[in-house]
Amino acid sequence: KKLRVGLLFGGCSGEHEVSLSSARAIAQALSADQNTGKYEILPFYIRKDGRWQAGELAQQVLESRTPLQLESSTPDSPSPIASSEISTANTQQLNRWQSPSQAAEIDVWFPILHGPNGEDGTVQGMLKLMQVPFVGSGVLGSAIGMDKIAMKMAFAHAGIPQVKYIAVNRSQVWSNPCVFPKLCDEIEGTLGYPCFVKPANLGSSVGISKVRSRTELETALDNAASYDRRLIVEAGVVAREVECAVLGNDNPKASVVGEITFESDFYDYETKYTQGEADLLIPAPLPDAIATQIQDLALKAFAAIDAAGLARVDFFYVEATGEILINEINTFPGFTATSMYPQLWAASGISFPELVDQLVQLALERHT
Ligand code: ATP
Ligand code: MG
Ligand code: MG
Ligand code: MG
Repeated sequence: KKLRVGLLFGGCSGEHEVSLSSARAIAQALSADQNTGKYEILPFYIRKDGRWQAGELAQQVLESRTPLQLESSTPDSPSPIASSEISTANTQQLNRWQSPSQAAEIDVWFPILHGPNGEDGTVQGMLKLMQVPFVGSGVLGSAIGMDKIAMKMAFAHAGIPQVKYIAVNRSQVWSNPCVFPKLCDEIEGTLGYPCFVKPANLGSSVGISKVRSRTELETALDNAASYDRRLIVEAGVVAREVECAVLGNDNPKASVVGEITFESDFYDYETKYTQGEADLLIPAPLPDAIATQIQDLALKAFAAIDAAGLARVDFFYVEATGEILINEINTFPGFTATSMYPQLWAASGISFPELVDQLVQLALERHT
């Protein structure tokens, strides 16, 4: 009997479009030759307003061949793919489950959601409550892995080197006119320029600014505060950007290390999702000893946040000093055919269809 896999994709997140791309690739891989006869795929599309769609409409969104589209400066606006599908559908169909019983038939969930409301423990909590196995980290790992402040506290405790940072609350930026200048003074004094201002809970570089002056700092804090209550400001580091993929539950494995190169100022949203703006070097041209250290640190980071199934761990490698600093962990990294995570595994001997197969098996193993 085929295992019924519920694909959850879309989501109320600035990374909605990225999720659609990942979901298409994973759906294809689950029905690839190697996995023939194993899986029945049931798509569940979570719209940006939080409504769920199953059945035909979800299938249409999944099958739409439109590639990931960059919507200039507003990755948050409604998906061009989804909205075109929705406009052709009749409203009555839209406002209720097409097949309400379908969710109850799922043997294993595959939450292909990036960013808040999906990669952060919210969906994982719901699935756990439903008592059905699901791919990836549980509530704790997802939540710690999503929040850059909590993540860095866990990494510090595990003794993993990282850049200096200051945690900020939105109220320090918005509510109190006396607090804001003091906050900026503290950031300038402790971290200096350039520094990176980030919403604590996001991804794909959405809301992140590299700042070089007081004016830029003020603007960046205000902007990041519009995305999240919790913000983080980090000292800027000049380094190579290297990433390592982790796969497994209690005895996870680390992949070969990959490197990202690009011409732009930093690895921002546009650089990430515009064809040809960034190159992936797999494996990264690194001394063996450095690559091994990165793999060890990636496994430590995975354990430090209680991740499960999969994660991509991102590092800065300061070539001049040999320092390896952790940047972050992503518990559901980009998962298209050209994304770093599956490519790192392909280079480590696990093909894309094998990889998704293993992830489903890891979900079942963890549940029992
Ligand atoms: P992802 O899409 O991987 O989830 P994210 O939105 O969580 O990304 P980060 O990885 O924290 O964002 O930062 C995005 C990019 O910004 C990094 O890849 C790097 O290019 C740059 N960057 C972030 N922090 C720093 C720093 N402290 N020093 C130098 N560059 C940085
Ligand atoms: Mg991230
Ligand atoms: Mg991410
Ligand atoms: Mg990153």
